Amino acid sequence: MPSFQTTPGTRDILPPDAVRWRSFVEEFDAIVSLAGFQHIVVPMFEDLGVFQRLGDATDVVTKEMYDFVDKGGRHVALRPEQTAGVCRSFAQHRPLPPWKVWYSGPNFRYERAQHGRYRQFDQVGVEALGSDDPLLDVEVIALAVDFFQKLGLRNVVLNINSLGDSGDRARYVEALSQYFQARIGELSPESVATLERNPLRVLDSKRDSEQAVVAQAPFISGFLSDEAASHFAQVKQGLDALGIAYVVNERLVRGLDYYCRTTFEFQSTALESAQTAVGGGGRYDGLVEDLGGPATPGIGFAIGLDRTLLACDAEQVFPHPSTKADVFVIDTTGGLQALQLCQQFRTAGFASERAYGGRAMKAQMKAADKSGATYAVIIGTDELSQGVATVKSMVDGYQEEIPLDSVVEHVAAQLRKVSS
Ligand code: AMP
Repeated sequence: MPSFQTTPGTRDILPPDAVRWRSFVEEFDAIVSLAGFQHIVVPMFEDLGVFQRLGDATDVVTKEMYDFVDKGGRHVALRPEQTAGVCRSFAQHRPLPPWKVWYSGPNFRYERAQHGRYRQFDQVGVEALGSDDPLLDVEVIALAVDFFQKLGLRNVVLNINSLGDSGDRARYVEALSQYFQARIGELSPESVATLERNPLRVLDSKRDSEQAVVAQAPFISGFLSDEAASHFAQVKQGLDALGIAYVVNERLVRGLDYYCRTTFEFQSTALESAQTAVGGGGRYDGLVEDLGGPATPGIGFAIGLDRTLLACDAEQVFPHPSTKADVFVIDTTGGLQALQLCQQFRTAGFASERAYGGRAMKAQMKAADKSGATYAVIIGTDELSQGVATVKSMVDGYQEEIPLDSVVEHVAAQLRKVSS
């Protein structure tokens, strides 16, 4: 018999971790809904062309795409991120702007799998389409800041930069290219290859030997048009007005080609690995048009769920939510009583569990302990013949006999008292 394991870069999210994942998304939903963002679900795979718009020169497109030809001969790809899908959706359905949406779910990139970097990873994110108001950029960034705060994270640093408009960016890339060409001897073979494809990405180099040449490279701020510079100044002013701390990081270029003007990234200083970015985003004013829609500005961010939870672990915040039962029904008379009572407790809105397979009293009691239930309801042969159940507090051990037909009501009332 073959024995199977998860393939590299994928993981089972087992209970209780999966419960924590769900509450992560619920917390995000609560925050962004207050700002008028509505939930959107886009397909997990799309025409490859949708994702090629992320940039011919990006690793995501050239090396990491899970693409294949389906049985109908269509060249499709699993989504490596969700912004492109959302913009394709906007171009297809033409909703009235401003269109503010949020999403969650898995993405797929054929990356070198390591701690904090997976081939299937989850993100939550927002996109706001239809306005180039710099204060919208601020509002969007503030949502991510609020969310990190709500999780309890204290060690997340916001880096911001402006990549200018497409003309500014093209002039900067040209200048960068000339600069690195002139000092090519100081670059590693990897960076020389990157320079060919995408000079901006050379700035991302973490190699010690290249830090000097990278540090002296021209800065994007010298290439911004008046409009882009003013937009960036207003973003900073808005962040100041909300009291949001940030670091202007002119080396922040981000991995995808579609960004212009505002770009930002959140770094966790609590994470020790190489993977410290917990989220990032920016403006992508040309993307909807690139996908066949009307010229539409847009801004958004994505937060990596897997990695943000690692940051939560490192800071010991956002613990697993409780999965305890409210009541555990022990039945040594065959199981029918427990089956019925559990059903009644659930109908009344209480988490109830029981043991299976007609086990002995001792084993059922052990299971009740393990379930973390606040109350055990015990029905043995004596109880059944007298039409009662023993209700035992698992907190202080106090127990009393209650008529079977009112036991649900009785325990429910006690549980309500405990939770109020
Ligand atoms: P990106 O879509 O590349 O801008 O990434 C946004 C966020 O998603 C990053 O800051 C990470 O937290 C997360 N992320 C991106 N790629 C991966 C991956 N392969 N594994 C885990 N998290 C990832």
